Amino acid sequence: MKDHSKGPVPVIGAGLAGSEAALQIADAGFAVRLFEMRPGLPTPAHQTGNCAELVCSNSLGSKLPDRAAGILQAEMRALGCLMLDDAEACSVPAGQALAVDRDRFGERVTARLEAHPLIELVRDEVKTVPTDDVAIIASGPLTSEALANDISRLAGIQHLSFFDAIAPVVTAESLNRDIIFAASRWGKGEADYLNIPLEKDHYLAFVDAVLTSEKHELKEFEVADPRAKQFFERCLPIEILAARGRETLRFGPMRPVGLDDPRSGRWPYAVIQLRQENTLGTLYNMVGFQTNLRYPEQERIFRLLPGMENAEFTRLGSMHRNTFVNAPQLLTSTLEWRQREGLFLAGQITGMEGYLGNIASGLVAGRNAVERLRGTTPRPLPTTTLLGALCHHVAHSPSSNFQPMKAEMGLLPPLYPPVHKSQRKAAYAARSADEMAAFLHNGGPATVAPPSS
Ligand SMILES: Cc1cc2nc3c(=O)[nH]c(=O)nc-3n(C[C@H](O)[C@H](O)[C@H](O)COP(=O)(O)OP(=O)(O)OC[C@H]3O[C@@H](n4cnc5c(N)ncnc54)[C@H](O)[C@@H]3O)c2cc1C
Repeated sequence: MKDHSKGPVPVIGAGLAGSEAALQIADAGFAVRLFEMRPGLPTPAHQTGNCAELVCSNSLGSKLPDRAAGILQAEMRALGCLMLDDAEACSVPAGQALAVDRDRFGERVTARLEAHPLIELVRDEVKTVPTDDVAIIASGPLTSEALANDISRLAGIQHLSFFDAIAPVVTAESLNRDIIFAASRWGKGEADYLNIPLEKDHYLAFVDAVLTSEKHELKEFEVADPRAKQFFERCLPIEILAARGRETLRFGPMRPVGLDDPRSGRWPYAVIQLRQENTLGTLYNMVGFQTNLRYPEQERIFRLLPGMENAEFTRLGSMHRNTFVNAPQLLTSTLEWRQREGLFLAGQITGMEGYLGNIASGLVAGRNAVERLRGTTPRPLPTTTLLGALCHHVAHSPSSNFQPMKAEMGLLPPLYPPVHKSQRKAAYAARSADEMAAFLHNGGPATVAPPSS
């Protein structure tokens, strides 16, 4: 067994993930040194020196027990999340959503961390990956440059991204397969892609819809980032391509060559390809469709596409400043670095999205760090829980272009035996509660896993 008596566990970043991770470790009886570079070294998005500052919206998502955020909250409670209590104590009226007064929330978490006898809050930047036996990096989407450079040294430069280029993701079951066909270009290899065929009128109407849709403007600090120009040239959003000429998309992400539509026996005028997003094959992403169109506009215009009339989106497109690692190559589903036992990542840097999911990732990393400190091996959460499915996704996503993901029902394995759509959300919630209870009490999943599809 390793000797962990040497000193406090370093946790880098007192944001949403790092604060929860530090509290978990300290509450288990181990000393923590929690590093936060603000306010001395600010980020372009944070406004205060508070720990756990929410940088934009103040909502942690729905409280309804059969919504993704509601299920995640129930799982976090079962696992002993500490910051959910703070969120509830600082909540403001927001209908069915858990929204907080961001200043009170940040002040409350900061006070809790400062008051904890086993936590030392150090207001300083950490520039290198710690070499301690157990450590957590939770430095977030705006990780300081020095630390990012050191992480890329450890990970390999190609495994650290500074911007995301998120293409929309749809559920497989919401696609009309009478129109959308499976094929690979030129018939090479397996028919791994699903293809949305468009004839000329449809294509031109789609381009017009893209050009006239409302777009999100990038934040000033994102535009000014010296890496932004190079990134956006490599990964152009569809609205920029469309603005370059009405045929440009057809020679880019909507290229139809080599794709025979089985209904017509020829190539369509344009094609949008969908690539499998998760190992279960329940989700597909729209290849090359990164975009900053406003969310409601994306849903509206993508549902105009043939076979996408009833598309259910589990993620919509975006492009933002975001430091994250290529988790499928680097992390296990316990959020531990594959090549270095005891080094955990938490928060947005793992490729997880959303305030709630990021607090939850700190909870997972903190609990698993405690396992290592005790000399035991961390166990992955069951993939039938939303948090387990999210951790599994970041560690095992088959996508060659891994992009951040938030906790969504679409990540969950199908119910076995199948349940009618109207009952499905409640059934997912019930299964998650059962499996989490079994995980906590018996050390294993409660039910037999569904057959793999
Ligand atoms: C502009 C912007 C808007 C966003 N809006 C939303 C939104 O509306 N809803 C949503 O769900 N998510 C939003 N996000 C994503 C959001 O950042 C995450 O959901 C969440 O804050 C991530 O938690 P985290 O703990 O990983 O990172 P953070 O909460 O950012 O915490 C990381 C902490 O690490 C510190 N740090 C960085 N480098 C170092 C270092 N080297 N040494 C010491 N400390 C360091 C930072 O100062 C920061 O406090 C937004 C992100 C950005 C950038």
